[in-house]
Amino acid sequence: MGISAKITLAATLLGSTVLTAADIKNSDCLECHGDKTLTSTNAAGVARSLFVDAGVVSGSAHQKTSCASCHQDLTIKHPDDNVAAQAVNCSRCHEEAALSYGTGVHAAARRNHLRAGTHDAPRCVDCHGSHGVLSAALPASPLNYKNLAGTCGRCHEQESRDVIESVHGQALAAGRHDAPTCTDCHAEHKTRGLKESSSLVISQEICSKCHASERLNTKYNLPADRVKTFFASYHGLAAQYGSTRAANCASCHGFHLVLPSTNPRSTIYKDNLAATCGQCHPGATANFAQGKIHVDAAAAEAGNNLGERINWWVRKLYLGMIFAVIGLMAAHNALIFGRKAAARARLEDRTITRMDRSQRVQHFVLAFSFILLALTGFALKFPDSWIARVLGSDESIRRWGHRIAGVVLLLAGAYHIGYGLATRQGRSLIKDMMPTPKDALDAAANARYLVGLAKDKPAFGRFGYAEKMEYWAVVWGTIIMGATGLMIWFKLATTHWLPRWSIDVATTIHYYEAILACLAIIVWHFYHVIFDPDVYPLNRACVDGRVSSHWYAEEHGLDARAGNGSMTQTQSTMSVTMKTKNDQSTTTVPKSNDADAYRAAWLSGGSVGSNPMPAPRKDARRLVLLGAPGVGKGTQAKLLNDLTGACHLSTGDIFRGAKSLAASERSPAMESALGYMTRGELVPDQTVLDLVCERVACMHCPAGFLLDGFPRTLAQAEALEKLLAGEKISLTAVIDYELPLDTIVERLAGRRVCAGCKAISHVSEKLAAPGVCPRCGGKLYQRDDDRPEAIRVRMEAYQRSTKPLTDFYGKRGLLMTISAEGTPEQILKRTVEALAARAK
Ligand code: AMP
Repeated sequence: MGISAKITLAATLLGSTVLTAADIKNSDCLECHGDKTLTSTNAAGVARSLFVDAGVVSGSAHQKTSCASCHQDLTIKHPDDNVAAQAVNCSRCHEEAALSYGTGVHAAARRNHLRAGTHDAPRCVDCHGSHGVLSAALPASPLNYKNLAGTCGRCHEQESRDVIESVHGQALAAGRHDAPTCTDCHAEHKTRGLKESSSLVISQEICSKCHASERLNTKYNLPADRVKTFFASYHGLAAQYGSTRAANCASCHGFHLVLPSTNPRSTIYKDNLAATCGQCHPGATANFAQGKIHVDAAAAEAGNNLGERINWWVRKLYLGMIFAVIGLMAAHNALIFGRKAAARARLEDRTITRMDRSQRVQHFVLAFSFILLALTGFALKFPDSWIARVLGSDESIRRWGHRIAGVVLLLAGAYHIGYGLATRQGRSLIKDMMPTPKDALDAAANARYLVGLAKDKPAFGRFGYAEKMEYWAVVWGTIIMGATGLMIWFKLATTHWLPRWSIDVATTIHYYEAILACLAIIVWHFYHVIFDPDVYPLNRACVDGRVSSHWYAEEHGLDARAGNGSMTQTQSTMSVTMKTKNDQSTTTVPKSNDADAYRAAWLSGGSVGSNPMPAPRKDARRLVLLGAPGVGKGTQAKLLNDLTGACHLSTGDIFRGAKSLAASERSPAMESALGYMTRGELVPDQTVLDLVCERVACMHCPAGFLLDGFPRTLAQAEALEKLLAGEKISLTAVIDYELPLDTIVERLAGRRVCAGCKAISHVSEKLAAPGVCPRCGGKLYQRDDDRPEAIRVRMEAYQRSTKPLTDFYGKRGLLMTISAEGTPEQILKRTVEALAARAK
């Protein structure tokens, strides 16, 4: 009885139950298919066995799967309906594998073949078998690693033979499960053809999978450097750079028939190398192919091969040479840099106190804790970075370092609040740091100036908008980082009150605020205190508290300048520090605005506009500065002016100022005086005395005065004595600066003045751009009377006319002789000490 008859009978017996194909039992199928002689003949007249070996099925991976669950197309009418069974659809159970298969080359080929009406491309059964499907782990499976090359070889005969003969095939045959078989390179279901693959894909995705593996290289004693040296070679670099033509591993070693270099059939056998290289380099000779291919010049050992050894030593020599040459260059330039920085530092009259001791200590603690926090924080986020290595890659050191630095920062913040409330300087600092509408206007005006829309830069007070932004950003950052840091540190306590996700939010804020703060410090703060050409390599206010008066006037003009309308903060915020013996103690003298008004009157010959004269200050000093041209009287006068507020009265400046007037504006006396000056001669006494008498009101400057370049002759000294007596003014002292003649001549001949900021430089300074002022970029020029012929005349005039003044003032007990050797600051220190000693 056929299946259909049996089932019809069963259905009748069971009444209402409808039986489906799935209910067909294996035994029903085997009733016919268990017959070894059962065959069917296809359209082409070829007979095919339909015998199913029940033993094979029961030993297969599908032993528990019924015939009907695979052959779902069969109905209960089979075989009476004469419909042949369709190919089994494995994807019903093996969906994932089927999907992968669908994207591989076999499926693509199958689709093409089907379109062409052929059926040559492999389906599941072609590789896995049909009724006797076995797990690949079983030695009998056609997919077992030892059999796979043979299975693939049913279609890919040559490739299969090559693989079996290759080192890979031999290793597989020897039972080395790790050795690659077809699917390791071409993938399993998603089979990929590698013919069109780029060099990079072959080398990086295929061969490197095993040959870059430390485990496999060690296990099978394979050379460990093959992948590394390939990628360091031209071929590897070009492949990484995107070349599709560069040789890859298989170009030299072969694709399937990979043989050891000792095998005469190998493409890398020594006698075959020229031909192998010749595939890409036509005409390659044996010499071309001689030498090591996988060269590692950086290997620890020199190697055995001659070329390899030479290469190794060449690299070593170069490394030594680079280290020595670049090291020497760096050392050389570091010395130049140090010298120049020191020379420049010497030039600066750093007499303005910008930060007091407490502020400097607070800044140091802040900077120290900030840097430590940044290092220990980023070390956690980037555990493989150099930062982590610097900290010894030790988590407990990192964690406690971070916490301690955080606590220090918070304590510094708390101290700063106390400082801001309890001390006069603190209150003044906070007050001056308060943002005002002017800051917004300044920022806008500065932006216009910076992009060239405005001619003048706005003048800032004690703190400009940039510094205020920075200060308040630090306050904000400390609060944010402190709060989130404590939340993260004490997470258990935090989650007592807040949900768990609050810690995640705190962590995100902590991380991004840290990035924001670090970038702001680098881009904003470091620019202003390090990279700004005006302060480079460092604004040393954080070290000794002082800045130069030039820089201060430039950056904080409102605070530095007197008599400019809005000058209201000067008395309270600007002070100069007078250092006395051994720098032990400091006296702060308030800088007076009077001096600038008096000096302006001195230069222009106009009135100082004060009637009656203001009362002189007790600490006012009235000094005459003597010394040969070039000893640095002018520089000392400027430093003393910054230090004491005394007005700098220079007769030479009056003449130089007159030089810039139009000829029609100059008096005949002035015109002839300029002629004397240009030749280096002294201007006649009468002309000079007339000028000084016109300006006698300037000597009433309440802050005192510094007469520079006057008197220069005995006649002038006597006239001055009378003039001062008539005005009831007495001199504090006469300072004679002494310097050897040679040094003076050298100084004068090389002296250059900036046409812009009037700063003085010297040709020996080796300026970054010759002829350009290192401070403001203005044009440097040589004073007429600094030319060699004028210097000679001036020195003679000095010896003849001015030197006798030392006796004149010596007799009156006013003379103080001070060496003018050394830096301006050293000379200033000597002067201040001498004045202090004299005052006792
Ligand atoms: P100084 O800047 O003081 O070296 O002066 C520059 C030049 O101005 C001198 O070389 C003189 O030609 C002239 N000069 C300045 N002060 C006097 C003075 N008191 N008597 C005569 N000539 C002077």
